[in-house]
Amino acid sequence: MNGRIIKGIAGFYYVSTVGSGVYECKAKGIFRKDGRKPLVGDYVEIEILSEQDKEASLTKIFSRRNELIRPAAANVDQAMVLFALKSPDPDNTLLDRFLVMMERQDIPVFICFNKKDLVPEETAAYWKDLYTSCGYEVILCSAAKQEGMGQLLEKLAGRTTVVAGPSGVGKSTITNLLQTDVVMETGEISRKLKRGRHTTRHSELIPIGGDTFLCDTPGFTSLYLPDMRAGELWKYFPEFLPHEKNCRFTGCTHTHEPDCGVRSALADGTVRRERYGNYVRFFEEIKEAEKRRY
Ligand code: GDP
Ligand code: ZN
Repeated sequence: MNGRIIKGIAGFYYVSTVGSGVYECKAKGIFRKDGRKPLVGDYVEIEILSEQDKEASLTKIFSRRNELIRPAAANVDQAMVLFALKSPDPDNTLLDRFLVMMERQDIPVFICFNKKDLVPEETAAYWKDLYTSCGYEVILCSAAKQEGMGQLLEKLAGRTTVVAGPSGVGKSTITNLLQTDVVMETGEISRKLKRGRHTTRHSELIPIGGDTFLCDTPGFTSLYLPDMRAGELWKYFPEFLPHEKNCRFTGCTHTHEPDCGVRSALADGTVRRERYGNYVRFFEEIKEAEKRRY
């Protein structure tokens, strides 16, 4: 039977199948030897050991379309950076960190701002405009008022989406709203999975129905920038890209050099201060880390 790994805890993998629920599988030694450790998101083949106990063994991992490091997951289509417009207020430094992290892993990313019912329209428009001007798709919604949920579901449908965002922004509320009854009725899922509930560091796939999955990583709420060189950071600010060709110096860091294309775009308002401020902040952070490393 074929399925997909939706969770992995201490040598057990939980494999979701179409129509037969979730099976608990012991990871077989063979995969370790190959250096192929099963990952959440892997499409796999399983052999049923006990239908009654929902136990099976993993017999094959199908080749991966891609593999994310943070969070560790395979076959991811896109990332959604999820923030609230209020309670908590958007933290654009944290938001930009998530964007950089996803850009660096070459995963398409869009932004969703929830709780639009709590702010005036101008506030929602400000945030939407800030990130739309950088080339990001922005969805505004209110899970409480059930507004914008159709647009969100359309964006998620048939895809596997990593969700990144601080707690309290409405991730559980949104997930519950989107989950179809088909998914909820499989009582077997919860019984098997409950055992691992205390382990909160691992990512898991939440089936939304059909081929739609959200990849949730508890504790994935704040982060330092991954090991990267300061010199590559600008590449992960997509709105900087068209201006780099106007920089006088090759290897321009866009922080202090004369005749810098990015900084002249900043001066004329094409590049936004909010974003540039975080660029400089991250740049210095990475520089500091490099000093400690070399
Ligand atoms: P999580 O920590 O991201 O999973 O956030 P929750 O889904 O637990 O939501 C945190 C709080 O925000 C709860 O009290 C929700 O009822 C509330 N909440 C979620 N979505 C909305 C929304 O669109 N508008 C308002 N006003 N409150 C919301
Ligand atoms: Zn420059």
